[in-house]
Amino acid sequence: MMNRKLEPTEVKKWVREVLSTRPDEIDCDECMEQLDRFVEMTISGRNAAEAMPLVHHHMEHCGCCHEEFEALLAVLRALD
Ligand SMILES: [Zn+2]
Repeated sequence: MMNRKLEPTEVKKWVREVLSTRPDEIDCDECMEQLDRFVEMTISGRNAAEAMPLVHHHMEHCGCCHEEFEALLAVLRALD
């Protein structure tokens, strides 16, 4: 637990962020969880973006997850 009290302004900011997130969007944790499957689909030549649109959409906006995807793809391709 945090050992400091949350300021009301911080709480308001947090609530705004939560409310502004679309319910069909996933966060980085969820993206990472599904990334293996996304990469496997990509490698097997299936349309991963169509099968897993939320992961695809997240990576379009998140450079960090996209880098993870590229790295995973490179590793798995090297293993083949
Ligand atoms: Zn992300």
